Amino acid sequence: KRLVILGGGESGIGTALLGKEKGYDVFVSDKGKIKEKYKEVLIHNEIEWEDEKHTEEKILNADIVMKSPGIPDKVSLIKQLHEKGILVVSEIEFASKFTNANIVGITGSNGKTTTATLTHHILKQELNVGLAGNIGDSFAKQVLEKGFENYVLEISSFQLDDIKDFKPKIAVITNITPDHLDRYDYKFENYIESKFRIAMNQTKDDYLIYDADDEVIVNHLKNNPVQSTLLPFSLVKTIENGAYLDKEDIKITIDNNQIIMPTSNLALEGKHNIKNAMAASTVAHLLKIRKQTIRESLENFQGVEHRLEQVLKINKVQYINDSKATNVNATYYALESMDAPTVWIVGGTDKGNNYAELFSFVNEKVKAIICLGADNEKLMNTFGGMVDVIVETQFMSEAVKIAYKIAEAGDNVLLSPACASFDLFENYEDRGRQFKNAVRNL
Ligand code: ADP
Repeated sequence: KRLVILGGGESGIGTALLGKEKGYDVFVSDKGKIKEKYKEVLIHNEIEWEDEKHTEEKILNADIVMKSPGIPDKVSLIKQLHEKGILVVSEIEFASKFTNANIVGITGSNGKTTTATLTHHILKQELNVGLAGNIGDSFAKQVLEKGFENYVLEISSFQLDDIKDFKPKIAVITNITPDHLDRYDYKFENYIESKFRIAMNQTKDDYLIYDADDEVIVNHLKNNPVQSTLLPFSLVKTIENGAYLDKEDIKITIDNNQIIMPTSNLALEGKHNIKNAMAASTVAHLLKIRKQTIRESLENFQGVEHRLEQVLKINKVQYINDSKATNVNATYYALESMDAPTVWIVGGTDKGNNYAELFSFVNEKVKAIICLGADNEKLMNTFGGMVDVIVETQFMSEAVKIAYKIAEAGDNVLLSPACASFDLFENYEDRGRQFKNAVRNL
């Protein structure tokens, strides 16, 4: 059978290796440039490939196509594949066919990486478990080389759009807020449906863990019931089967078996991280990890780079890197978790942001705003009247130096851009690294 892989990135190369091993005739095609390190792997494994073009006649004779999540359905090549009735799948769909492992699939608009990494951190204390998805080595490559008995997968909506039979034993939806709408005909409903595909093949023997305080999720579930056994989590209401916050304690109950954890012991700060901890611990509780192990793992988790990452304390000022906050909702939780007057560095490529939900935190906690973007006009206009000091710059090093001058002992300096990074930086990692370097250079 002929397997054509569109996109020669991490997931494409992993799928190519797995496909080859399973006896497929594999062809990799990328319209952009394939990275040297991946080309070497393809050549070494005698896998046919092309880059900087798609040769249609080599693609349209596929039996099955694995499409990189970056390629939209709208492009004509994908339309032609659909018209010809050729099966187009994502990497997780393809790779999951070749493993019997228990799969924990984590999706949502924000918190996927944090929750997936934290879940993996707890499970690995007692189980043989891999971490994949948008993190590290591709799922396909791990299925081929590692053969874990369990996987925690971070799964984007684009990966879910091209599943057919994929069924996680445990699914998590962290939250749903508008994002990536350009790929969903600008219809929020389409994006919500895409996220819920994570549960579409589940039965009552499988579990769906979700945020019961998220009205979008709750309303969608009400109108579109799923087969899965539901395990909600909440910060505000009592949950009999699932997780909730009882004053200062997280309580998780599954089949009358309860585990209690004080939130004061959580390594990660912020309300959103209590939710992430609830979701991760519910997975662990389901998989019968010992209570003591769950508690200890939540205490010693180091966090994930670029997510409210504590960088340095200089002259009693705490510098915090939240470069991964690429939308307003992520920044909302960052500002909410600030426990001191804050100098806030914000800006980048605006995705049609509505900043209104941040106003009360800005009034309450933000003493100065530094707008860091190619175009800062909207931010300057929006927040101009709200704080005493608002300045703009196009350079990270300058932004950090200005923050250093303004901040006084006991303050925070927070990079939480609420915007994409592509105007001034390669990506959010580059932005976060430049921030950390600038802080270290102070
Ligand atoms: P994702 O993988 O979904 O992009 P990350 O864990 O990388 O999520 O976090 C992205 C941003 O969202 C970070 O700024 C982080 O601090 C924030 N965040 C993390 N968890 C949540 C949550 N449950 N709700 C809202 N924002 C969150």
